[in-house]
Amino acid sequence: MTGAAAQRMPSLFLSHGAPTLAEDADWPGELARWGAELPRPTAVLMVSAHWEEAPLALGATTTVPLIYDFWGFPEHYYGVRYAAPGAPALAEKVRKLLRGPGMPVQDLPERGLDHGAYVPLREMYPDADVPVLQMSLPTLEPRRLLDIGRKLAPLRDEGVLIVGSGHFTHNLRAINPGNQVPAVLAEFDEWGERALAAGDVDALLDFAHKAPGARLAHPREEHFVPLAVALGTAADDPRAQRSVIEGTWLGLSKRSVQFG
Ligand code: ZN
Repeated sequence: MTGAAAQRMPSLFLSHGAPTLAEDADWPGELARWGAELPRPTAVLMVSAHWEEAPLALGATTTVPLIYDFWGFPEHYYGVRYAAPGAPALAEKVRKLLRGPGMPVQDLPERGLDHGAYVPLREMYPDADVPVLQMSLPTLEPRRLLDIGRKLAPLRDEGVLIVGSGHFTHNLRAINPGNQVPAVLAEFDEWGERALAAGDVDALLDFAHKAPGARLAHPREEHFVPLAVALGTAADDPRAQRSVIEGTWLGLSKRSVQFG
């Protein structure tokens, strides 16, 4: 049979750890199981905390080298490869959905996947056989990102897996090898879990004012706001969600959420 409609895809917010995630005892397996359980995507549209660029930019649509946007790690992390195919057809669809008055879209064809994109994808789709397109965060304003997610939502019906990649808590000063979690970060994580369960999109968007310890959990908000894109793609039913990965890593919450 040909021409079968693609299966409607969930969309995700995931915590992406660091290149060292690959050596963790549990996390790679959790991501691999998630990738195996999800319907097979036609392509991945990735929005990572590590690419802020305005106007909104689309990265490479051919396979180009990865971006090793981290410093001071052991040498072998700079030799990691992830040669996923590009997704030019998806790029064209994203341009059409997003481009409009006051909303330019630029193409940056040399821009490869950064570690917020490829670190989790290497575990979820280790064969690098799913086309990937990375898109920049053109703003850190959650309501604008929600709106972008809403416009992208129709892609879910075409089998596209939309991923907001950040970290549920992200304060580099709280990182510790013993995985001790400061109480205020645990409180933020619990607040977020409750707000997600309640489908309280307004609270999640206004986390900077509504959440306990928001300034400490996110001294800068770039690792939390990819969640707003995912929420936008799930605006029809934000309560249909679950945390597929929970727990902490080096003191930070690695909560990762599936919508739909
Ligand atoms: Zn990061």
